[in-house]
Amino acid sequence: MDKERIKKYWNRFSNKVIEIKNKNRYFNKIVISIAVFSIAMPSFAAVNTATKAYNVYIGEDVVGVVKEIEEAMEVYDSIKEELENTYEAKVDLNGELSFEKTNVFGGELTDRETLETNIKKGIDFKIDAFAFIIEGETIGYFKNSEEIENIIEEIKKPYAETTDRESILKDVEILENIDIQKVKVDISDISDTQSVTQKIRDGKEAKKTHIVEVGESLWTIAMMYDTDVDKLITANPDLIPEKLKPGDEVNLVVPQPLLTVVTVEEVEYTKDIDYEVIVKEDDSMYNTQKKIITKGTKGQAQVTANEIRHNGILVDKEIVKEVVISEPRTEVIAKGTKEPPKTMATGTFMMPTRGRITSPYGNRGSRMHLGIDIANSVGTNIYAADGGKVIFTGYHRTYGYMIEIDHENGYITRYAHLSRILVSTGNRVYKGEIIGKMGSTGNSTGSHLHFEILKNGVNINPSSKLR
Ligand SMILES: [Zn+2]
Repeated sequence: MDKERIKKYWNRFSNKVIEIKNKNRYFNKIVISIAVFSIAMPSFAAVNTATKAYNVYIGEDVVGVVKEIEEAMEVYDSIKEELENTYEAKVDLNGELSFEKTNVFGGELTDRETLETNIKKGIDFKIDAFAFIIEGETIGYFKNSEEIENIIEEIKKPYAETTDRESILKDVEILENIDIQKVKVDISDISDTQSVTQKIRDGKEAKKTHIVEVGESLWTIAMMYDTDVDKLITANPDLIPEKLKPGDEVNLVVPQPLLTVVTVEEVEYTKDIDYEVIVKEDDSMYNTQKKIITKGTKGQAQVTANEIRHNGILVDKEIVKEVVISEPRTEVIAKGTKEPPKTMATGTFMMPTRGRITSPYGNRGSRMHLGIDIANSVGTNIYAADGGKVIFTGYHRTYGYMIEIDHENGYITRYAHLSRILVSTGNRVYKGEIIGKMGSTGNSTGSHLHFEILKNGVNINPSSKLR
């Protein structure tokens, strides 16, 4: 045996699978060999007192000389059996024996041990295995398919077991196409379950980008995408973490496992049902007015839904059932249609005249000044500070000629010391309407308007309301 051949036999990376052929085939070669011998060397056998024997071949190489074919076959079979026991797998020997008739003298026969060694060196072998294929890509070879099943279960496990949500796990599936195929491989190609499991978990690194939003940092972004800050820094060599600002684009390196565990969880929860709002037009009300006739209340429903998660991340939700526990109550609102009169109070007050404020509201010596004094010449126009109804016109010993307007919203205004009154009790007046003229009637020391605002019958500081 020369070195060159041995090297060739041990080539483990040969993908060629040769089936063991029927033993009868060996005899074809024998017949041919005999024919060759009888022509080429007819006298050789006759001259020498030789013993009949067989050259044992693997391919083109002689691995020994035996007296009987069965001796070599037995060695061959025992090697196969030994390999099968060693690797606990069905073994396919790649390299069959063939025989050629020859003659030997005395001790030229190969002993069993040498023959075994030579055959072992001369054969290549494959074992039966199962290829684990994900989406057409082989990720490992295993001696039995249970190992593959176990890996898949191991991948599913974290999503199938640890659910702190109040839910019923209804289904755990793998999204990708998984194929398990029977193959013949070299023993060195057999994978170990742990490294394949890790390979699936690590997956591919998918490239994505993220636009930075207010308040985000590399740390929060890393959390969001289930990666870590170091990876982000590596993926973004030009980025200075401290100078990260909204709008910046960050390259993401996000691990994408080779297998996606799809879980379907049934959840139950109650949800509010919004009430309807019906607006009824009411021509007895102004179009600025609204009134709730029936207050609406939300209803409640018991919802049963299927939450679909990919590797624990919620991707979809299907409502399975919705049972109404309590019906919502429709809200009914009345809305006025009438155009409001100009004399209706607006809710804000205007300056009732032009002039200089000569005396503010509040304590004036020992007495309380219940309004403000606005001074100008006699005959200056006095305006209604807001819309309303005139409820008093007349002369008062202290106030002189005076007008009182009820704004019909809790407020009453008073206008005193007038020289003329231009409205009558019962009149409706609009905001800004001229109602009188400035004067100095009653207890007054000069031409001015004494103006008061009463809220629910109590005087307040008019300056706080005027604008
Ligand atoms: Zn006054």
